[in-house]
Amino acid sequence: MRQLIAGNWKMHGRLAHVQGYAQAVRAAARHTDLLICPPFTLIDRFATALAGSGIAIGGQDCHPAPEGAHTGDVSAPMLAEAGASYVILGHSERRYSHGETNARVAGKAEAAMFAGLTPIVCVGETEAQRDAGEAEHVVRQQLMHSLPEGFAGVIAYEPVWAIGTGRTPTEADVAAMHAAIRAVLAEKLGEPGKALKILYGGSVKPDNAASLLALPEVDGALVGGASLKAEDLLAIADAAPRG
Ligand code: PEP
Repeated sequence: MRQLIAGNWKMHGRLAHVQGYAQAVRAAARHTDLLICPPFTLIDRFATALAGSGIAIGGQDCHPAPEGAHTGDVSAPMLAEAGASYVILGHSERRYSHGETNARVAGKAEAAMFAGLTPIVCVGETEAQRDAGEAEHVVRQQLMHSLPEGFAGVIAYEPVWAIGTGRTPTEADVAAMHAAIRAVLAEKLGEPGKALKILYGGSVKPDNAASLLALPEVDGALVGGASLKAEDLLAIADAAPRG
């Protein structure tokens, strides 16, 4: 399957960045799917700037309800209307700083699918959990309880301790975790779970992308910091295996 290289801009980026970035990614030849997840305020501009390019736009969160008295929140239908086709859910920065539970993430994923968006559900262990030998158990619990019935989306394995730190797990650890995730997806979702993309995220950069993306059961990357520069995101995409 074609790999998916997804950029998570987090709370970075202003209007002035959109045109130059969009032009650079549009112009580049690529053999992967590309997805840009900017802040909510830039989704509409990006959708216009990338129209017809085949490059997808995503949100970084959505509310489980389609509308209502939820000050500061954005719903899945609103994201879709603005031009998004994906949404990142359950990122560790939301699980830990906004207290998001697995059940809440499952509700958001259900709302996203109902609105026609592809949810990218993030899972991953803390450093203490890995040191205690609990990494696979923690990720299994997150998957079992963050994915709604009939989940049709993407999983991003993002060890919390590797996000924004410049540290990555060993290749053997990434491969083992992705194999474990694949087994849980098959157990929970049956046959369709075997075909879902599993992305690796956590300090993916142009210089480590080739080795990470070549690992078995790694179907792409969720890239934070390095996605802010179009040339770095493109270099990561370029490092993905062909065919
Ligand atoms: C992320 O926030 O999803 C992420 C993987 O960040 P970084 O690439 O900066 O570690």
